[in-house]
Amino acid sequence: MTSSCEVIRTGDTADDWSVALERLNGTMVNYYVVCKRKLWLFSRNLGREQDSELVTIGKLIHESSFKRREKEELILGRVKIDHTTRSGRLIVHEVKKSRSHPEAARAQLHFYIWFLERLGVTCEGQLHFYGEKQREDVSLGPSERAYLEAIILDALRTIDSPSSPECQRSALCRKCAYRDYCWA
Ligand code: SF4
Repeated sequence: MTSSCEVIRTGDTADDWSVALERLNGTMVNYYVVCKRKLWLFSRNLGREQDSELVTIGKLIHESSFKRREKEELILGRVKIDHTTRSGRLIVHEVKKSRSHPEAARAQLHFYIWFLERLGVTCEGQLHFYGEKQREDVSLGPSERAYLEAIILDALRTIDSPSSPECQRSALCRKCAYRDYCWA
């Protein structure tokens, strides 16, 4: 699998994975793929992510995407999965406003599948883009697993770094909740 983000794989031990289970969540994996600086700021509660209008819109979309009676929320430590359904087996759903970061959305869903697998739960994923009828089935094959685990290790290194990754101005910054923090 190709990726626009650089990942370096080192020392993948059981310790790394237990640390990841305790310290990372799906949003952080998504942010790593979008922008490492965004992950670093989010991990320190810096910037204005909580106040962002875009974040609020995203939460409203999550609320309205599935009828509440069909939803089953799953909260496991730091990981909160908004939508799960059962159709023979557990299906984890992730709903996005748009297709602007599909690679990040897939990595987030792969993380949920990986996370649940480590807890002994087998599941599949479905990715939904709001307003579109299409859905994308997502599973964790060998190449996706290798890519995800490399992301996890580098995401842990990123949040542990005492200094923030450099700002990388791109089209993504225009709608980023941290744009004022980075560029004001
Ligand atoms: S504004 Fe740009 S550089 Fe800053 S966190 Fe967002 S995407 Fe990254």
